[in-house]
Amino acid sequence: MIIFSQVCLAARVVSITESGITAAKINTSGHCDASVTTGERRFMSLKWAFLIIVFTAARRHGGCGYRRKSCTTMAIPPVSKLSFPDLNIPAPGTVTAVGPGVMWLRMPLPFDLNHINLYLLEDHDGWFVVDTGLGGNRTQGHWESIFDHCLAGKPVKGIIVTHLHPDHVGQAGFISERWRAPLWMTRTEYFTARALSSAPSEASQWPVQQHYQRSGISPELQQQAVQAEGGFSGFICPLPRAYRRLQHDDRLTINGNNWRVMVGRGHAPEHACLYAEELGLLISGDQILPNITPNISVYSTEPEANPLADYLDSLQQFRALADSTLVLPAHNLPFYGVGHRVQQLIDHHRQKLDTLLAATGKPKSAAELMPALFKRELSPHQTMFALGECLAHLHYLMYRGDLQRELDDRDIYRYRSTRPQAQATTAAVPASATPTRV
Ligand SMILES: [Zn+2]
Repeated sequence: MIIFSQVCLAARVVSITESGITAAKINTSGHCDASVTTGERRFMSLKWAFLIIVFTAARRHGGCGYRRKSCTTMAIPPVSKLSFPDLNIPAPGTVTAVGPGVMWLRMPLPFDLNHINLYLLEDHDGWFVVDTGLGGNRTQGHWESIFDHCLAGKPVKGIIVTHLHPDHVGQAGFISERWRAPLWMTRTEYFTARALSSAPSEASQWPVQQHYQRSGISPELQQQAVQAEGGFSGFICPLPRAYRRLQHDDRLTINGNNWRVMVGRGHAPEHACLYAEELGLLISGDQILPNITPNISVYSTEPEANPLADYLDSLQQFRALADSTLVLPAHNLPFYGVGHRVQQLIDHHRQKLDTLLAATGKPKSAAELMPALFKRELSPHQTMFALGECLAHLHYLMYRGDLQRELDDRDIYRYRSTRPQAQATTAAVPASATPTRV
C-alpha cells in the first residue's frame, strides 16, 4: 500500500516496511509524518567513519565473488581533484562492497565503452537493483549468477532505473518478471522507454528527414540516420506494464538509510540520481561520469530542444554535496571529488561553446562546424553522436542570443555569431535557467 501524506511540504519519503511499501511526505523540519519506523531510522546517523568500519567488517556472501580491499583505501580524499579509491573492479557475476549493504557490479557492453556499473542496495527483506544492463542472454546469465550467489538468500524486491537508455533499462523487464518485483523510474523516463521500445510508428518520417537535411550532412548520412530511427526494442527486454513513479526530492528509505532522488536533465529528460547523505554515497548514473562526458544531444524527436541548458542547470545542484561523497557512476570507476568533476564538466562545455562561437564568424551549417569540435575522423555512427552534440551546443548559443540561425536556399540551417567579433563566452557559462529563444 502506498500512502501519501497531505499535510507536509518539502519532499516525498518512500519507505519500505515489513508490512509493505509506504510513502509519506517529509515535513519542513525534516521529520517524516508517517511510515518511517524507529527501526528504519536507526542507521540514519551513520557517518563516514562508521561507514568505513561497517565496510571493513562486511561479510562475504556465500559463494559470491564479493571482494574488498583495506579500509585504508577509503581515506578522506583531497578536494581539489578527483581520486579513485582502491576498489577491486568486480568481474561479471561478482560484486564489490562500496558501502554498508551497497554492492557494485558490472555487466559487459558490446561497444567501445565495454561495461556498465550497476548497484545493489540491501534492505532487511530483500534487495533493490539499480540499473540493469543491456538486454540479451549474456547479461541474463550474469544476473542469474548474482542471484544465486550474491543475495544472501534474499529476493530482489525492486528495480530502480536511472534513465531510459538500453544499457540501463535493458534487463528491467527480465528482473521484474523473474522476481515479480516492481520497477521504479521517473515518469518521463518510463513512458519514453515504453514508446521507444514499442513497434516502429507508421507515421511519416518527414520531420526526421527535415531535421537531418537542415543539419547539412550528406544525403548518404541522412539516409542512414533516418533508417536508424527505429527505436531500441531489439536491445531491451519487454518493459513491465506498470511502474512506480520517482520524483525529484523523493526519499527512498532502504535499510534505514534515506536515498534522495536528484533529477538531472540533458543527457536524458528526467534522469534519477540517488544520494544517501548519511552514507556519503551518490549513485550518479550517466549524469556525472569521471573520465568521459555524458552525451548531450539534440535528437530528431525534439529538433528545437536545448538539452545543454537543461544539463548545466541541473548539474548545479551537485555542487552542494560534500567532497567526501563517493560517487558511484554508471561507467568508469567510483570516485571522490563531485564538486571538482562538476566544474570540469562545465569547463568542458564552456570550451566547446567558445570554439563554436569563434568558428561562426561566417554562416556555417552544423555539419560544417562538427570538425571544430571533433578533430578526429568519425565513423558514420560516431558522426550521428557528434552531430547531436554539435547541435546541442549551437542551440545553447542560439537561445542565449550569441548565434543567429537562418535557412539558406538549400534548406540548410546556417549559424552565425551575433557578436561583432567572435568572443569567448567563458564568463557567461553556465546558462541562466531561462535561455532566450530566438
Ligand atoms: Zn545514458
